Amino acid sequence: MAGTSSKVPIEIVSDDEMASIDVAFATAACSRVTPVAAPAIYSPASTPRIRRIGTSIESVPVRAKRGLFTCSDPDIEDIGSFVRASRKKKSREDDTLLHRFRSKRGLFVTDITKTEWCEKQMEFSLFYEEWKNHEAKPDFAFVYGGASRKSKAMKAGIDRHVQLEREVLEPVGVNVKSHEDFMALKLVNFINGVNQLMFEGLTRELPIISFDFAQGIWMVGKIDEMQMPKAKHDHNPVLVETKTRYRDTVPAESQKRNGRVQLMCYKYLWDNLVAHADRNFPSKQLFDYFELNPRRMLCKDLRTACVDSGFSALTLGDVVMCYKNMCKKLPYANDKLVLRYESQRDQSLLEEEKFAYDDGWIKNEIGICFEFWFGQREASYVNEEEQWKCGFCDFVSQCPANTAKMDDDSARLEKESTKLKKEIVALKAARYARRKRLEESVHARIEETMVRVLQEIEVIFETMKDELMETIGNYFKD
Ligand code: SF4
Repeated sequence: MAGTSSKVPIEIVSDDEMASIDVAFATAACSRVTPVAAPAIYSPASTPRIRRIGTSIESVPVRAKRGLFTCSDPDIEDIGSFVRASRKKKSREDDTLLHRFRSKRGLFVTDITKTEWCEKQMEFSLFYEEWKNHEAKPDFAFVYGGASRKSKAMKAGIDRHVQLEREVLEPVGVNVKSHEDFMALKLVNFINGVNQLMFEGLTRELPIISFDFAQGIWMVGKIDEMQMPKAKHDHNPVLVETKTRYRDTVPAESQKRNGRVQLMCYKYLWDNLVAHADRNFPSKQLFDYFELNPRRMLCKDLRTACVDSGFSALTLGDVVMCYKNMCKKLPYANDKLVLRYESQRDQSLLEEEKFAYDDGWIKNEIGICFEFWFGQREASYVNEEEQWKCGFCDFVSQCPANTAKMDDDSARLEKESTKLKKEIVALKAARYARRKRLEESVHARIEETMVRVLQEIEVIFETMKDELMETIGNYFKD
């Protein structure tokens, strides 16, 4: 994979970077905006915006903003929870993670990237998500050790994505009334986004919903940016992903890899849509999967939005038909994908990585993720080289990988401590023995000296006695 070289130092950063990927998009898309009058989507804006995008791929002047229809309900990635909210929860004891957490809502592209990051962390966050929404707050309250971190860096990332979005999108409030309206809203925004891409050469925050025929599941996501190449012979739109950085550094390889997975997933979804639009567009699967009625009348706001977008639709089925017709005209996405890293400080470009789409590689990556989602194996942990990720994980104190390591560490410390205690006891014993030996030796020497001195005194006494006797003898003799 080719990428532009950079002298910017590489740094492993916190999970802010990862979290900001998701939070930035989710929040940017869900952020409430004051509804404004619905604009004519393709009429030039009163203040034309001609902007150069600071990338080395062809920058595109944006002549008009696209109307982004919004409602107070969650983003496309939450369409399922919106649909499920008013439906009775079914009890399915032995569900897979996919059934338990993503049934009727599709698998998000962020699910794939998070799974690629660490399957165990993904599993933890699914159960935490469920726990948060559970009134009784069962045992997971005990299990979860941290609070979701939303740092300054994440907030700055969110703000930047909102800013990028607002450069080309004009939010228009729509009062949706049904699940069918909600799905139609997303499809209309896709149609408008694609029109903007074709006419203006650029679109951002493009919701995409695509059927994975190989796995038989719906996948959903939101494409950061698409650009039409300037070269005349090239008609395939380029997918661009912008990531903001708190520090002026480029991320570690595993973080870049995660970004590549994300972009390749979008191309995979886009190309899937295009490939099946003509003959076997999965309309029935769409209605069945999300339990939607194609004949249900759309709300008035949405019917107006459709007219403003250049087509007439009364029901969700009509919108899906337009969606399908639109997809028929689409070219495949460009094989060249662009991942940009810009500084949060001044929005300067830190690195731009261009790489080629690898169909076999991404299918394999998605397949590995599906094994986890389909319950074909247990969640795996990060490998040894990537254990630094655990340092930024909210679930580190409860993760078996970490607790097992902690147990190992404790056992090792315990062993070392016992060994040290034994050594200390042995040292004390040796010191006592040495002192004892020393004392004994000193006593022995003192005793020996005293004996010697006494012997010498005795000799002196004997000598003095002999001399005295001799002197007394001589006295009486004289
Ligand atoms: S502590 Fe590490 S291995 Fe465990 S869930 Fe978190 S990132 Fe994954």
